[in-house]
Amino acid sequence: MTTKPLSKTEVNDLVAGLNKLARNLWWTWNQEAQELFQDMSPRGWQNLFHNGVAVLHEVSEYELKVRLQDPDFADRVRRVLASYKQYMEEKETWAAKNAPHLKENPVAYFSAEFGFHETLPIAAGGLGILAGDHAKSASDLGLPFVGISLFYREGYFQQAVNHENWQTEYYTLLNPQNLPMEPVLDARGQPLVCKVRIALNEVYFQAWRVNVGRNPVFLLDSNRPENEQHYRDLTLRVYGGDSTTRIMQEILLGVGGVRLLRTLGYNPSVFHMNEGHAAFLTLELMREKMAKGKSLADAMARTKEECIFTTHTPVEAGHDRFSSDLVNYAANKFCSQLKISHDELMGLGRVNPKASSEPFCMTVLALRCSRAANGVSELHGQVSREMWQCLYPGRSVEEVPIGHITNGIHLLGWMKGTVRRFWRRRLSRDWAAAGESETTRFWNSQSGREWESAINSPEFWKNMEDPSFISDEEIWALRYKLRRELVEFSRRRLLLQGQNLSQGSFIMFDHLMNPDALTIGFARRFATYKRAPLIFQQFENILKLCHDQKRPVQFIFAGKAHPRDDEGKRFIQHIIHLSKYSELKGYLFFLENYDVHVARQMVSGCDVWLNNPRRPLEASGTSGQKTSVHGCLNLSILDGWWREGYDGTNGFAIGDDSHPGNVDEQDRLDSENLYKVLTQQVIPCFYNRDADGVPREWIKKIRRAMVTLVPAYNTWRMVQEYTTKYYTPR
Ligand SMILES: *Cc1c(COP(=O)(O)O)cnc(C)c1O
Repeated sequence: MTTKPLSKTEVNDLVAGLNKLARNLWWTWNQEAQELFQDMSPRGWQNLFHNGVAVLHEVSEYELKVRLQDPDFADRVRRVLASYKQYMEEKETWAAKNAPHLKENPVAYFSAEFGFHETLPIAAGGLGILAGDHAKSASDLGLPFVGISLFYREGYFQQAVNHENWQTEYYTLLNPQNLPMEPVLDARGQPLVCKVRIALNEVYFQAWRVNVGRNPVFLLDSNRPENEQHYRDLTLRVYGGDSTTRIMQEILLGVGGVRLLRTLGYNPSVFHMNEGHAAFLTLELMREKMAKGKSLADAMARTKEECIFTTHTPVEAGHDRFSSDLVNYAANKFCSQLKISHDELMGLGRVNPKASSEPFCMTVLALRCSRAANGVSELHGQVSREMWQCLYPGRSVEEVPIGHITNGIHLLGWMKGTVRRFWRRRLSRDWAAAGESETTRFWNSQSGREWESAINSPEFWKNMEDPSFISDEEIWALRYKLRRELVEFSRRRLLLQGQNLSQGSFIMFDHLMNPDALTIGFARRFATYKRAPLIFQQFENILKLCHDQKRPVQFIFAGKAHPRDDEGKRFIQHIIHLSKYSELKGYLFFLENYDVHVARQMVSGCDVWLNNPRRPLEASGTSGQKTSVHGCLNLSILDGWWREGYDGTNGFAIGDDSHPGNVDEQDRLDSENLYKVLTQQVIPCFYNRDADGVPREWIKKIRRAMVTLVPAYNTWRMVQEYTTKYYTPR
């Protein structure tokens, strides 16, 4: 049978559809959409950070039109576009039922960083990733939501390592035309320009719209010709520059963000501050009210009703503090618009408003001006109540009004393609048993999203304890495939890192790593409290483990230190040094330039995910939550989310639910406990194979992790919790 060629109109429609699709990050969590872009230009896809927009620029419109005459390709495009349309137009969402009051008045979510995808590298770490995942789930759930952040045109830095194994940073300019975002335009089709007073100047800014499924996230950009160069560079880098840059960025984010929303006609019912960076938004909300004749006290009380605040860290340096002089310099003009004195303004950011030596703390401002606040795990909620009790004189720790909502991850976004296909095939097996092909099912179900809701439901994950649903052998085969993919990914990266592309080096690098060995991963920011090199305090012991021929172990590390954090850089140097010059060479690897892509490879391919922060400084941690769906097990200090996630059967704990106050004592004890649990539990369990060569006990733990952790530690659950607890007016 021959198929009729597609008409011009059909071809044009599909091309237009693809262009639209590429500019909505929805494709970053849809497997078929990603495969379309990948097939259009496999090398382009790989080299351009898996960027749909860039791939469409790489492929000429003529090529695309020719290829759409391939009936199979055209059919795939149609299917993806139909899924996308269905997603965007779905009416019966969770939020339509559970939060109808937000329909006209969305949640405005302010965050200094958003980590959506490797394509748009404007996040420094977990805080940004969490914001990105929050936005994606808000869309999935149909929650009316608008995000506000900054467009850093040099993004977060790229990491290289020099010949002294010292981290060096380099920056590449992001080209908005090549990214999944669009300029926000005014009625004349020109960039919409707003302004905000910073120091002695009006600073002008424009905005970029990132479509995250159904919802927009607007990125403010001060790179406008009206501005002096140093203001144009205000949005150059994530947390770039000194505290002057920092406070100015934060004024732009908070005050500018509210102004942009008003200009665009938004009237949010809730302003959610994701960390203190955005807290200046409360001042703009107060200014608006005072301009309408309200008194300061009245304006503050009403502002408080609109705002909620999430605090993210018990680490002191994680809370922005600005000196009185700096606040005076940067916010003076703004102060006079607000009609409050400098002392009154300072008072809002001080624990003790009258203490003239106390700096201005963004967290204090945020807490003072929110109707509700929360930490990001149960333990962190408790720690935050203790930390901020000083703000609530006369109240006991239990009465401090800071609750908690434990963080999660956007499941579909974090699932590696291999695993999405794996679960999808597993589901279509059930459909086939019911007499339907996957294609019929797709077109009949009115929603290609059926499997998405399945994958997010606890019922689906309950099946994992049932060997007739999925066998040990299948799980083990998946684990081998994922480890193999990580090993091959790492070999390629290590080859490029080595820059030694002489003949023969390919072969040499293809022998690195052992695809059968127990593979332990550690990847996150190299903040010192995360103690990346902790395990090497047991150097001789670890060496023996690695060299055990029968039960080999290997380690993969990755992560960036903040550009000004020399101690973090020394950690990196130490680990790379061990990987190159100690007897751990060949058993320990450091992958450079950690980002979302590297993270996805590691959380899927490793067997064990190591996390050993200094308790209780890890507010939540989310990288460990990305692992369970891939069958990787957590091995962690009982801090952050793991303290409540671990149940004795679904992974491993280092130490118990307590910690010594003395830091050195804690490090010593934790490294001993880490070694103990590795040798007594992890390694024996992994290598205990039955007559068929399958580690049954290990797989039982994987099943337990899937049942207990996957449906609990995701952002579907988290955003639902925010909605019912905090986005609903009292
Ligand atoms: C998930 C993730 C993080 C957060 O990791 P933690 O475990 O919270 O430290 C940081 N960076 C990247 C790139 C991530 O994907």
